Amino acid sequence: MKTIIAANWKMNKTRAQAEDMTREVVASLKEQPVTDRTVLIFPPATALDCVSKDAGNVLETGIQNIYPAENGAFTGEIAPCMVHDAGGSWVLVGHSERRHIFNEPDDLITQKVNFTLAHDLKMMLCVGETLEERDAGQLRQVLSRQITSGLSGQGNAAVPSIAVAYEPVWAIGTGRTAGPAEIVEAHGIIRDVLRILFNKDADEVPILYGGSVKPGNAHEILSLDNVNGLLIGGASLEAQSFLAIVRA
Ligand code: PEP
Repeated sequence: MKTIIAANWKMNKTRAQAEDMTREVVASLKEQPVTDRTVLIFPPATALDCVSKDAGNVLETGIQNIYPAENGAFTGEIAPCMVHDAGGSWVLVGHSERRHIFNEPDDLITQKVNFTLAHDLKMMLCVGETLEERDAGQLRQVLSRQITSGLSGQGNAAVPSIAVAYEPVWAIGTGRTAGPAEIVEAHGIIRDVLRILFNKDADEVPILYGGSVKPGNAHEILSLDNVNGLLIGGASLEAQSFLAIVRA
């Protein structure tokens, strides 16, 4: 499987700023191609259209959140047909900021997963424990619950459209990266749970690590067992830093 290097720009960048950075990244990737990696950007919804237009066959793009309805009276929300319309092919579901700042419960996340995959979009499900859950010895229980509730409605036919991102809540935007042993343990648990759901096909699901990834630690993290990519917040906001991770 191709390693996925994904940028989550969160609520950052105007359209002009998004375009500037996209052009710089695309120019670099055309000049020096990285053929064994999928490079993916989740811009804010307002910039998805312009980032997708500039993506030039070297980037994939997606939306940071979705609502599980075709259209209708859901003020502020975005439907799958709008993602297609803006040129996106991915949806990020269950990011820890959605779970913890916006209180998205597991059952809403399950609906988003199901709706995304039913609308011909690829779906990256974010999972991860809080520090309290980790300290209480609940790592396996939390990851197992989040993955099982998110993915148990899916058959093996959905596997090529699914990625999972492990993002320990205590490592996101905090400057604190999980250590190699912690990452290997969590990714191993995730692979075990995926095998329960998808048997042998589980090994085709990329598992990304996210949480304070930087150019300086990206290579080491990518070399760990069951790490098939990176999801990057802060260090993805600047072209040179993101490109250094893409090439790590
Ligand atoms: C994220 O929000 O997906 C993330 C990993 O953020 P950061 O890299 O800033 O920790």
